Amino acid sequence: MSTSRIAGLTLAAALAIAGGAAARPHRTAAPAPPPPPEPAVVAAALRDKALQDPTAYGVVESLTTEVGPRLAGTPAAARAKDWALAKLTALGFSNVHAEPYAITAWTRGAESAEVTAPYPQTLMILGLGASPPTPPGGIEAEITLFHSYADLLAAPPGSLTGKIAVVTQAMTRTQDGAGYGAATRFRRRGPVEAARRGAVAYLVRSISTSTSRSPHTGKTDYAADVPKIPAAALGVADAELLDRMVARGRPVRVRLALASTEIPGAPAWNVSGDIVGSEKPDEAIVIGGHLDSWDPGQGAIDDGAGVAITTAAARLIGDLPRHPRRTIRVVMFGSEEMDYSGRAYADAHKAEADKLVALSESDAGPGPIWNLQLPKGAAAAPALKPLASLIAPLKVIVSDQPAQFAGADFGELQVEGGVPVFSYTPDTSLYFDVHHSADDTLDKISRSDLNQSVAAWAALVYLLADSDIDLRALAKAANPAAAPRP
Ligand code: ZN
Ligand code: ZN
Repeated sequence: MSTSRIAGLTLAAALAIAGGAAARPHRTAAPAPPPPPEPAVVAAALRDKALQDPTAYGVVESLTTEVGPRLAGTPAAARAKDWALAKLTALGFSNVHAEPYAITAWTRGAESAEVTAPYPQTLMILGLGASPPTPPGGIEAEITLFHSYADLLAAPPGSLTGKIAVVTQAMTRTQDGAGYGAATRFRRRGPVEAARRGAVAYLVRSISTSTSRSPHTGKTDYAADVPKIPAAALGVADAELLDRMVARGRPVRVRLALASTEIPGAPAWNVSGDIVGSEKPDEAIVIGGHLDSWDPGQGAIDDGAGVAITTAAARLIGDLPRHPRRTIRVVMFGSEEMDYSGRAYADAHKAEADKLVALSESDAGPGPIWNLQLPKGAAAAPALKPLASLIAPLKVIVSDQPAQFAGADFGELQVEGGVPVFSYTPDTSLYFDVHHSADDTLDKISRSDLNQSVAAWAALVYLLADSDIDLRALAKAANPAAAPRP
């Protein structure tokens, strides 16, 4: 198809094209075929249609109602995979398939914790993903409480021998998620650091901005050279309770019981579907979210929302009477929470990395989006020049900082395949109130915020897909030092 396009198509005409409507102006002579609309006009129509479109909410409502929580490697995750295959097919995607791989699954058993002395009270906890179980009957020990993670790191070797280490540092609420980035190490690395100093178990204040007693789980990490000690998250109110007990000066004793299990060789799947490009079907913009979720809630905001936003954006584009030139691929990743799907996806797709135009995952909640980071050097490219004006009515700004990260599930492919990335940042001010907790439920999702996100994704993804833009070349031109020397 010719690359020349005629500007000035009216929005109403573009909407008719975007909606596939058969509206034609009355003519007396045989009409010439209508010129193809400018990509920016189609993108504007897609944006406006997305704001009213029920697809995204329908996807996350369906997933949370018909599947619910879906921890990787469990029967619920297998049901989620079947749901995803059926949903993508029903929404008109092509090449719908599941890519299997094996993981070590982790499942939760009975869990409890209590202060046994000097002020006996029950504590609300959730075991951390990958934590081993305690011995039957639990572990009872005196706690050593650190008000900051730095204080734990400053504790000398052997100083926690026989103790349960507790870190009660609060997470900071931020718009861009930086507070979570700074706090995840308290959960991820705390058990190893506590075990290095002799601790027998580890409790961390939930990585959360809420004051709810609902604990927030998440995966933790272990190291080969230190004992794997049981680890759990305390409800925020329970962490503050321990702060107050310790302040009274008497030794505080806690009993912790966890009955988790690990299942090596459990099945997992990354599910994929395409809106096939009309001219260059082998070149793809790859977007998606993760299908797995933590077990206490419904996996609505994390990451049913990301699955819904990216699926709905691609589906709107797929409904156009003419598909964009390049393929749009949606991937629903099967084990983000347990850290496996990025490796599996890169292993399966590294060989075709040079055909992938750009990667981006939606995994920071249901919006609204406020910021966009483009690949280095891309903002001034003719194909993307209209973007800032297109997303301005959505109250989204284009950052002057280039995108660094495509999301956890694209991390390995981004680095090993050298694929350009873009990143939309939703407002995460409220996201970490419910993330990874029993309160991650459908009612936390606003349809209008979800659709604002779909609108922003659809506009950008369409412009990328209907262009010849070479993001790798733009990045090299923007940073000549990075170009290979002749
Ligand atoms: Zn997530
Ligand atoms: Zn998560």
